[in-house]
Amino acid sequence: MQKSWHIETQAVQGNYQPKAAESRTPPIHQSTTFKYDKAEHMAQLFDLDCPDPMYTRLGNPTTSVFEEKIALLEGGVAALATSSGQAATALAILNICRSGQHVVAASTLYGGTFSLFANTFPKLGIEVTFVDPNSSLEEMQKAFRPQTRCLFAETIGNPGLNILDFQKFSTLSREMAVPLIVDNTLASPYLCQPLQHGADIIVHSATKYIDGHGTCVGGVIVDSGRFAWTPEKYPEICEPDSSYHGLKYLEKFGPLAYIVKARAQYMRDLGVTPAPQNSFLFNHGLTTLHLRMERHSSNALALAKFLDAHPSVSWVNYPGLASHSSFALAQQYLPKGASGVLTFGIKGGRDSGIKFMEACRLIAMVVHVGDARSCVLHPASTTHRQLTEEQQIASGVSPDLIRLSVGIENIDDLIADVDQALAASR
Ligand SMILES: *Cc1c(COP(=O)(O)O)cnc(C)c1O
Repeated sequence: MQKSWHIETQAVQGNYQPKAAESRTPPIHQSTTFKYDKAEHMAQLFDLDCPDPMYTRLGNPTTSVFEEKIALLEGGVAALATSSGQAATALAILNICRSGQHVVAASTLYGGTFSLFANTFPKLGIEVTFVDPNSSLEEMQKAFRPQTRCLFAETIGNPGLNILDFQKFSTLSREMAVPLIVDNTLASPYLCQPLQHGADIIVHSATKYIDGHGTCVGGVIVDSGRFAWTPEKYPEICEPDSSYHGLKYLEKFGPLAYIVKARAQYMRDLGVTPAPQNSFLFNHGLTTLHLRMERHSSNALALAKFLDAHPSVSWVNYPGLASHSSFALAQQYLPKGASGVLTFGIKGGRDSGIKFMEACRLIAMVVHVGDARSCVLHPASTTHRQLTEEQQIASGVSPDLIRLSVGIENIDDLIADVDQALAASR
């Protein structure tokens, strides 16, 4: 029944229906372990024959509510919550890719993901080839090898804000017979549901719009259950797992195999588990996701239009503006809005950028996006300051670039703040 609800109703009431005299909101199960009476029951837990919780590293009732709700919102079959977005991306890939294997990824990625792919995965023997998402299908095919195990991209590139061409990327992943993994952090399932556009697996940094209030770091992986795992390429999903007395994930769990394996192997061994308190706050955040994303998007569009017409601004990058190179893709894949992040170029370059950031009153200087409160960042003098100017430009950060994560305050107050800070930056 819940699957037929509109997404707004799913966000508010999805996947938690208390019985009589039970708490109206999903409670925090602040407990490491869970008690059982029969050895047989515990044996079933260890054999993965029973979904009851046993130890919070592997599962917790508060976290399960979050996992099942995000799976519902994304239209997936199952989800695994993690301690951060970085952990979600790492686990999503390690689950199907080992030393000697290979990943193809769009080059326009969040900095932390880029570093994971360019520095840390190679140390583990997993190579990543980056492809320009604007290149042709034929060009991108050349990046694939017999060892390639997945294709990775972001719905909205952070911080480039290019929108993923789902048609092209899902065609590519199907032709190359690997799953398409999409980081849907900046869009959230309210603005875009990548599984409807050919993605197979989704990752989120729940730290951003899912929490939405700047309170906790977390992540989640959602699986469509649709990818056809083959024993030739994915023996670890299809063949017996010696670390789990010969369990065959695909045979036993069917469409749930990928998430069960990620939990039973990698969450067991790496332990990147969310705190129950944080899962509680993610459940809380999801309740208003649809309202917040609407306001983030409408505020960002209004601010982008204001900046576009401002004499102190040399350029504006927001996919909801008709002049943006991704505008057509944004209309197609994010018809309800292009989310809350925008970047713009300030006249006067680096010095004006610093002055602008310091002059903002309502909009806070914070290294964050996706908060209900607006935030501003001048990457050249902060997150990217270790790089030379040439390196900054190569990574898409020009000295004049300002990033705004537009919150859900009143738009007139936000425009007034930006206007006075632009005046102060001259
Ligand atoms: C922030 C972010 C991440 C990393 O998430 P953390 O929760 O900070 O570990 C991954 N992808 C995108 C697009 C992000 O914005």
